[in-house]
Amino acid sequence: MTDIDPESPVDFDRFVDTEHPVLVTGATGFVAGWIVKALLEAGVTVHAAVRRPDDTARLQPLIDLAAASPGRLRFFGADLLTPGAYAEAIQGCRVVFHTASPFAMSVADAQRDLIDPALSGTRNLLDTVNATPSVTRVVLTSSVAAAYGDTVDIRDAPGGVLTEAVWNTTSSLTRQPYSYSKTLAERAAWEMAEAQQRWRLVTINPALVLGPSILGTSTSGSDILIRQFADGTMKSGAPPMEIGMVDVRDVATAHLRAAFAPHAEGRHLVVAEVRSFLAIGAALRTAFGAAWPFPTRVAPKWLIWLIGPMIDRTLSRPFIARNFGHAWRVDNSKSRNALGLTYRPVTQAAVDMVRQMIDTGAIRAPN
Ligand code: NAP
Repeated sequence: MTDIDPESPVDFDRFVDTEHPVLVTGATGFVAGWIVKALLEAGVTVHAAVRRPDDTARLQPLIDLAAASPGRLRFFGADLLTPGAYAEAIQGCRVVFHTASPFAMSVADAQRDLIDPALSGTRNLLDTVNATPSVTRVVLTSSVAAAYGDTVDIRDAPGGVLTEAVWNTTSSLTRQPYSYSKTLAERAAWEMAEAQQRWRLVTINPALVLGPSILGTSTSGSDILIRQFADGTMKSGAPPMEIGMVDVRDVATAHLRAAFAPHAEGRHLVVAEVRSFLAIGAALRTAFGAAWPFPTRVAPKWLIWLIGPMIDRTLSRPFIARNFGHAWRVDNSKSRNALGLTYRPVTQAAVDMVRQMIDTGAIRAPN
């Protein structure tokens, strides 16, 4: 790993390649929106792969961004599960950002809804990368979920701290299937990267991503979680849980640096801070007032264990036992040293996210 000398910080902007287009898969996504914005502002031509390229109403915010930026934007239709779907969008690209993957905690069929698009989708895209001589780097949006399954697992990491060397070994189709999908996809990507010499894989492994969305609305699991702070779900108490969090704008910066910095390599845990759900509730209450049903106390673990499964099917008793009341510890030094990240506070990201939800009418202020 090449660390940055704090005395002479690296000017990452000078590495950005504006000569060649880049491919961004899942360009409609919450995380991808900010990657596309940063690329367009840097003057890069973006080949944006989306499922419905004709849905101009949804894509309008990206179209507007491109109109106001030096970079150019072209849309391509592609579904992860269609072999060769990215063959047209990838033409001429040196860099591929693979963000497309479902982020959902509650699905009807984990194999169909999570594993297949994550794993087969990644292999499908990388087959096309292998067949495209111009590509020299692939930045995969993985997750801290590929490093651990349940919070209690972190205790078993060396020193009880998550690092880039740690892999999730506990998730399965029935236990944390989203985390399983991210682990399988990242493992498959490393296998395919190591089987060839031309392109380098760099992964960004963010924790829970917070912040406003470029498209105005989002179906990301981040959105669903933050809504629960505002809609009264946590009114009687926040889950006794802490977790790593990061601002979506910092995640986008991490992707660009991973794509263009000559020295970028390997995995990067991109985590700004570890915060409790109660701390996020407190920040939202300070910003929006006491009339909102943000949590003001922690719900006891025993109570959630007793009634949680009846209220929310994702709150199984094994999940509660393994994730509530355990310490969440991470070493984010590689992201700071190799990618030069300086992180924004995550409470502000949560506030910005809720403010956008209020402004767009996605959530209603209490009477
Ligand atoms: P998101 O807003 O739901 O974005 C997911 C993207 O994947 C959307 O563009 C979606 O397209 C696309 N997609 C899903 N299934 C697809 C398919 N079959 N074919 C083509 N595209 C498909 O969620 P996000 O939070 O931005 O997540 C983006 C990436 O970040 C994912 O890889 C996720 O695992 C990772 N990540 C997210 C977080 C977080 O806290 N948000 C944390 C760590 C890692 P449609 O718009 O058409 O549905």
